[in-house]
Amino acid sequence: MIKNSYTLHVTRYTSKNKCTSRVTAVTLLTAYCLLLAVLCSCSPKKESLYRKTMILMDTVVTIHVVADSEEAADRAMAKAFEAIGKLDMLLNFFSDKSELALINRNAGVSGVRVSPETLEVIEKAVYASEQSGGAFDVTIGPESSLWNFVTRAKPDDKAVSEKLGLVNYRLIDLAKEKSVVALKKKGMLIDLGGIAKGYAADRAAEALKRHGIKSGLVAVAGDIKAFGLKQDGKPWRVGIRNPRQKGKDDEILATIELRDMAISTSGDYERFFIIDGERFHHILDPRTGYPARGCQSVSVMAKDGVSTDSFSTAVFVLGPEKGMELLKHLGFEGMIVDKEGKIHITPGIKDKIEFKRNS
Ligand code: ADP
Ligand code: MG
Repeated sequence: MIKNSYTLHVTRYTSKNKCTSRVTAVTLLTAYCLLLAVLCSCSPKKESLYRKTMILMDTVVTIHVVADSEEAADRAMAKAFEAIGKLDMLLNFFSDKSELALINRNAGVSGVRVSPETLEVIEKAVYASEQSGGAFDVTIGPESSLWNFVTRAKPDDKAVSEKLGLVNYRLIDLAKEKSVVALKKKGMLIDLGGIAKGYAADRAAEALKRHGIKSGLVAVAGDIKAFGLKQDGKPWRVGIRNPRQKGKDDEILATIELRDMAISTSGDYERFFIIDGERFHHILDPRTGYPARGCQSVSVMAKDGVSTDSFSTAVFVLGPEKGMELLKHLGFEGMIVDKEGKIHITPGIKDKIEFKRNS
C-alpha cells in the first residue's frame, strides 16, 4: 500500500517536474518517511567479514566468513574448526591414537574398521593414485618417514631403495560395505599428508554452510576451499606464492579468483633443505623415494579440496608435460612453475589469474 502510493506520487512528481499542491507534497513526504521506516525494518542486517586462525593438522588454518553478526560467525567457525580437529584425530600420521595409525600398525596382519571419513579420504586417495598412474601414491609412508626436514638429514640411499617395495597403492584392500581398510604387506604405511588437508577444507566449508554461512573461505595451509561471494559482491581471491622469492615485494606470484572452487598448491619450498646446492623437499617420486624434480610449484583448481590437494601433489611428481595432460584429462585448471621457473597455465584459468608485475 505505502509503496504503491509512493510510486504514484513520485511518478506524478517527476513527470510534471514540480509539485502542484501543498497537499500532494505533504502526502509525498509522509509516504516517503513511512517507506523509509518499512525499508529499514525489512532490509537484511549489514553483513561483515569475520576471520579466525587456529593451529590444527600441524599447520595454520584460517577461516573467513561473511555473516550478519559476530555471534553467527563465531558459532559457525567453531563448528568448522571442530570438524577439522576431528579429522586431525582420525588421520594424523604421527599420532599413535589415530585411526590411520591403527591401519598402519596392522599392515600385513588384519584389516581395520574405520569411520566414514577415514574410509572416504582413503578411497579418494586411491582414486588419485590410479588416475595419476601412481605419481600420487598414498602408501608413500615408508619413504616419507625416512625424511626429516627439521634435522635436515638426507636418508641413507640403501634405506630408500629397500623401502621402495612397500610403496604400492594396489596393495590397499578396501571393503567399502564393511568400512574396513587393510594393507596387504607388513611394513606398509598409508600417509595422507598429500590429501588430508584438502579434504579437511571441504568438510569445514560444509560445516560452515550447515550453520547458515552463505559465503566463506577455509584455508588449511595451501589447501583452500571458497564458496559464495564476499560482502562486497566480489569473488574470493587468493595469492599464489612465488616459489623462489628473493625479497619482500615478490612474495606473491599471482592472484586467482575463486568462485565456489577449491585450490591447492604443492611447492618444493614448503619443507626442504639444501645440501651442496641440491634442494631436498617433501614431495617424493614414488618410483625412486627421492624428491620429484620437474617442478617448483603446482596449483590446481577444481570443485573440491580433496581433489586439488591430491592432484597438485600428483602433477608435481609428473612434471609439466604429463602434469598438464592429466589436468586436461580430469577437466581441472592449474598453474605449474617448472624447474626452470617457467610458468604453464591451463587455458581456462586465463581470465581468473592476475600476475603480479614483478613476477
Ligand atoms: P603440503 O603438505 O606442503 O601441502 P602436498 O599436498 O604436496 O604438500 O603434500 C606433501 C605431503 O604428501 C608430504 O609431506 C607427504 O606426506 C606426502 N607425499 C609426498 N610425496 C607423495 C606422493 N608422491 N604421493 C602421495 N603423497 C605424497
Ligand atoms: Mg597435496
